[in-house]
Amino acid sequence: MTQPHFDYDLFLIGAGSGGVRAARMAAQRGVRVAVAEAGPLGGTCVNAGCIPKKLLSYAAGYAEAFHESAGYGWRGPAPALDWPALKTARAAEISRLNEVYARLLDSSGAQVIAGRARLADAHTVVVNGERYTARHIVVATGALPYVPAIPGRELAVTSDDMFDLPRVPRRLLVVGAGYIACEFASIFRGLGSEVTLVHRGNHLLNGFDADVRRFVAEEMGRKGVDIKLDWTVDSLARGKEDDLVLTSRMGATCAADVVLFATGRVPNTADLGLEQVGVRIDDKGAVVVDRDYRTSVPSVYAIGDVSSRKQLTPVALAEAMALVEHLFGAGQRAVDYEFIPTAVFTHPNVGTVGLTEAEARAALGHDGVAVYRSDFRALRHTLSGSGERTLVKLLVDKKTDRVIGVHMVGPDAGEVIQGFAVALRAGATKAIFDSTMGVHPTVAEEFVTLRQAAAED
Ligand code: FAD
Ligand code: NDP
Repeated sequence: MTQPHFDYDLFLIGAGSGGVRAARMAAQRGVRVAVAEAGPLGGTCVNAGCIPKKLLSYAAGYAEAFHESAGYGWRGPAPALDWPALKTARAAEISRLNEVYARLLDSSGAQVIAGRARLADAHTVVVNGERYTARHIVVATGALPYVPAIPGRELAVTSDDMFDLPRVPRRLLVVGAGYIACEFASIFRGLGSEVTLVHRGNHLLNGFDADVRRFVAEEMGRKGVDIKLDWTVDSLARGKEDDLVLTSRMGATCAADVVLFATGRVPNTADLGLEQVGVRIDDKGAVVVDRDYRTSVPSVYAIGDVSSRKQLTPVALAEAMALVEHLFGAGQRAVDYEFIPTAVFTHPNVGTVGLTEAEARAALGHDGVAVYRSDFRALRHTLSGSGERTLVKLLVDKKTDRVIGVHMVGPDAGEVIQGFAVALRAGATKAIFDSTMGVHPTVAEEFVTLRQAAAED
């Protein structure tokens, strides 16, 4: 397979979710593979994303559980959080995962090259001054936090910094209302911070269903996150008390000990030599690819966050597998971007798959969609003393009876939505939902007992 004048068949730049998966899959096929990585193996998801974030989310959940346990008869003082111990435990788990990745790559036969890589030409990558040639090069360099250019931005932190803060801040200010903002606001509220979230828009979680957006704001508010909407950031400065003061365009101020900007992530394309080699980048900074992940240079491909179709780990993994199949297999494996389930690990979680109500009505006409919705207090909270409520919502195509959207705000919605994603991909109709037995007593059984469509607006 190897053409004699290339060192490798496949050279990956970046050993994150996409790069590692592509390297392993290709190497297992006997392809000669190298992967260059400038940081720790595993990329964002393992080192500064999904995994450490979820561990902190679990940690935060205990505070709530201790508090609620009184309603179930548990007595005694609530334990205090040992933040250094949590940081040590998290770091140990991440190191373990880094080693697992190293072993997986090694046993697959892929060669790992530590260092920052740069394209020299369409078939050559330079790492640490060494030149490596490859038949195919894949850019899998992920994305980086974006912080708007406001005065004082250097005083702010990004999600990358949140895992190793010297202490849990007494007051945390979060800017933004996307996945990261909402998740970290919930997490640090749970860990004991006073949390304020400021957002330029009038609802959290742009792109999610309107009921979900409203509901999650109510629930986060109930847990003590102070949410300020229509609040556009103007500048950040050090205050008199050596704290940080954020000022809005309207002149309102908000003080905190730590200010987290969670204002999106931009594709990581800087200093890769892409433009010099002729790789096209779009106006949002993402590498432009065709349906086979090929860039404007035929030997160069891009997958994952750097080409930014959906910045989610399972999407990067799916793209990696499709690309390897395309390059070295039968080429049959296309990624289907429809019905990608997703969760926001707020407290409580958001879980979503399929269309929002607005998208469904736009696609099928206002009257073409039946909406089923329920908003209730889960059994757990009859004794816990918590006022937390749960939202479940189904959207149905009236003509075909197909369920085209499932939305939930509630306990473990991330876990619950995975199963419904399978059902939606299989084309489940509302009649199938109705004929499915519930699992009693659970929160998720509500999805199969929704009988009455909401009245038309
Ligand atoms: P990455 O995983 O970012 O990997 C890119 C790699 O390339 C990095 O290791 C980087 O060091 C390396 N690199 C960059 N430039 C070079 C170079 N020049 N030379 C060599 N190496 C280089 N997604 C989910 O699905 N679920 C979640 O719960 C979730 N939570 C998240 C929480 C946070 C706080 C963040 C920031 C992201 C989260 N994501 C989550 C998104 C997810 O982490 C990304 O979608 C995923 O990691 C993208 O994979 P990737 O392979 O494209 O890039
Ligand atoms: P998002 O795109 O989800 O949210 C960005 C937020 O920042 C939005 O509320 C946006 O407002 C706001 N914003 C953008 N620019 C500015 C600005 N100049 N001033 C003020 N506010 C601004 O990005 P995140 O950083 O939260 O996360 C990046 C991606 O990582 C996510 O989209 C997701 O794909 C992935 N991720 C996935 C997770 C998961 O699967 N659970 C968890 C964490 C991240 P507006 O709505 O007005 O545009």
